[in-house]
Amino acid sequence: MKTCRIAIIGGGLAGLAAANALRTHGIQAEVFEAAAELGEIGASVNCSPQAVKALHAVGVGPQVDAIGHKSPGPVTRNMITGEFLEYTNRFELAERYGMPYYCFHRADLIDALAEPLDRAHIHLGHRLKSVDVKDTGVSLHFTNGTQVEAEYVIGADGVKSVLRQALYGDDNPTFTGQMVWRALLKAEVVPADCLEPHGHVQWVGPGRHLIAYYIRQNRLVNIVSQVDSDVWEEEGWAIKGDPDLMRASYPDAEPRLVKLLATVKECSKWGLFTRPITNNWGFGRIQLIGDAAHAMVPSVGQGACMAFEDSYILGRWMNKCADPLEAFEHFRAVRIPRVHGVQNLSNSANKFKHMADQEKQKKEIKSGNGTHGKIDWVWGFEPAQDWDKVPTNVPAAYANPA
Ligand SMILES: Cc1cc2nc3c(=O)[nH]c(=O)nc-3n(C[C@H](O)[C@H](O)[C@H](O)COP(=O)(O)OP(=O)(O)OC[C@H]3O[C@@H](n4cnc5c(N)ncnc54)[C@H](O)[C@@H]3O)c2cc1C
Repeated sequence: MKTCRIAIIGGGLAGLAAANALRTHGIQAEVFEAAAELGEIGASVNCSPQAVKALHAVGVGPQVDAIGHKSPGPVTRNMITGEFLEYTNRFELAERYGMPYYCFHRADLIDALAEPLDRAHIHLGHRLKSVDVKDTGVSLHFTNGTQVEAEYVIGADGVKSVLRQALYGDDNPTFTGQMVWRALLKAEVVPADCLEPHGHVQWVGPGRHLIAYYIRQNRLVNIVSQVDSDVWEEEGWAIKGDPDLMRASYPDAEPRLVKLLATVKECSKWGLFTRPITNNWGFGRIQLIGDAAHAMVPSVGQGACMAFEDSYILGRWMNKCADPLEAFEHFRAVRIPRVHGVQNLSNSANKFKHMADQEKQKKEIKSGNGTHGKIDWVWGFEPAQDWDKVPTNVPAAYANPA
């Protein structure tokens, strides 16, 4: 295949969701993914109700409902004293917003997104190396020697996007000064009291936080943590870490957390990279989505959620506008203000979780700026009703005039 109308670069969460969104409108895209296989990622991802609605709307509702673990929501504790700080009841959220809050195993979610797609249009082992943008289309050059002429390109190639680099040059991913420790454990090795009372717990402390919860219908426990760090860590899902160093990142942890960390025999680590908050979401024939457009710190669990919203909304515009260039412009006009707000919210929640001053942290909770900050405007979004509207509900504290 040497030519195509629409190429999607990246077969991750954003790329596959976008391929589904286009499919629901009868638009065939070719997906080019660097990896030799889809979805070999042993980690989890949370998905809030509005993003689950977007997944339903791109046609994978039955698949995600079959694999989603209905999240009870985190009990937040002080990492040092173990003191209870707050509880976000996600079962109540599900009732309020009319859709569950799910935790997924990433590999399961990738499988769910890939299932309705025709594999003949997913080209594995295709790592984009460079692009030439011409008046008539875009030449895509892959490291395996393949060259493809595409009329339009959707860039879903993640935080280190080659397409974004090609368009904007010096707009590089930047190290956030945080590293992530992650472990996936069999549930039977984790003492249940570590995760009580609901099976989903979050410890917050000076310069670090750690979250642990069940996935795959209580068969696995996912641990994910962010730690402020001067060390420049590599980015990636499969970099092996040392469990003793992971434990050493929590020298003053309360007994339940110590007990939980003692069960970790294997872990991975990576440096958190994001992009500056800008309007550099693509132009002309290239539209970026997901982390390629707006990588954010995962402190309110919205990176993938925004990618699912992107995918659905891009599909709607591409269905509505005969000219994809026009569709891309409309897409950016409605998406950028909302996603900038979510990026700012994520940074703000990160500061809350890593506060050294415990009294100040409690005051923040009382004023509604706890674990998720002021987030109703994010979770309450209705993709099917609001896809074509420029958002007017981003709180001033998070609005970004960039
Ligand atoms: C620790 C952590 C926890 C998180 N938790 C949550 C959460 O709970 N909820 C949530 O909503 N978000 C969460 N996120 C954010 C979420 O993981 C990302 O926002 C999401 O994965 C973005 O999807 P994507 O498809 O844009 O990028 P990616 O997932 O990075 O996928 C990019 C794809 O493109 C491919 N690719 C890359 N370069 C090329 C190339 N040159 N050519 C071809 N293919 C290429 C990659 O192989 C990959 O398959 C978390 C992030 C981290 C780091």
